[in-house]
Amino acid sequence: MPPADHFRELELLSDCGSCFGLCCVALPFAASADFAADKAAGDPCRNLREDFRCSIHERLRPSGYPGCTVFDCFGAGQKVSQVTFEGRSWRAAPETAGQMYAVFPVMRQLHELLWYLAEALSLEPARPVHAELRRALDETDRLTRQDAGTLEKYDVAPHRAAVNELLLRVSELVRSQEKGRGKDRRGADLIGARLRGADLRRANLRGAYLIGADLRGADLREADLIGADLRGANLAGADLTGAIFLTQAQLNAAAGDAATRIPPALTRPAHWSETAARPAPVRNARRPRRR
Ligand code: SF4
Repeated sequence: MPPADHFRELELLSDCGSCFGLCCVALPFAASADFAADKAAGDPCRNLREDFRCSIHERLRPSGYPGCTVFDCFGAGQKVSQVTFEGRSWRAAPETAGQMYAVFPVMRQLHELLWYLAEALSLEPARPVHAELRRALDETDRLTRQDAGTLEKYDVAPHRAAVNELLLRVSELVRSQEKGRGKDRRGADLIGARLRGADLRRANLRGAYLIGADLRGADLREADLIGADLRGANLAGADLTGAIFLTQAQLNAAAGDAATRIPPALTRPAHWSETAARPAPVRNARRPRRR
């Protein structure tokens, strides 16, 4: 994975200070374990201040809004605010609000693709497809710079499917290094699975459901984690060195500790335990329970 500076250069790191609080207005949420109240799409969250800052930013989790800590716009918010709408907010120009809210989710999808493509381009084993990745990145960047009217109606699905084909080839190239590919758990239901100390090196965990899974001490090096649902998964002591297509939002949704090894472009979430987990017993490493 490239260093964080690389993503910053590509403007893929969210900059809430340059955004009109779009994720706090445009998107709906329902009262649940993730959000303390209902909110309809287009309604400003009751915690959003006039200056587009969150009034409970420092205490989202204890205030009942952990869902806000696991959302990443990949820089789409500031792109819509400052580029597409040229710095005119929905408060200053209410007549543009509806269009701005429609553009935001489209832009978020495109920026997410830019993130994956940028990461893929940094991977040495993916060199055979670097030229195609570069073309896809340039095309995706061009799409983000279309006018609001075009973006509002843009159907991302076909472009997303084409990029995904490319990312699949990258995954194969990365995971077939050295001793060959790891386990194939693409889309697997591993909710609550006991995978403590499991050997998941170079595993295909694309879109796997790992909600609440016990991954303490697991070996996830060079695993493909694109779209894997890690909510509540325990990554204490796990090794995610070289894991591909892992995002900050996925890490934020999981639990971990000081011993969890994470890719250099990502940040250890503040809510993770400061203490290291004890090493997993070897017997658990041999026979992980599968669901
Ligand atoms: S709680 Fe804060 S971060 Fe979450 S939607 Fe509301 S204003 Fe935004």
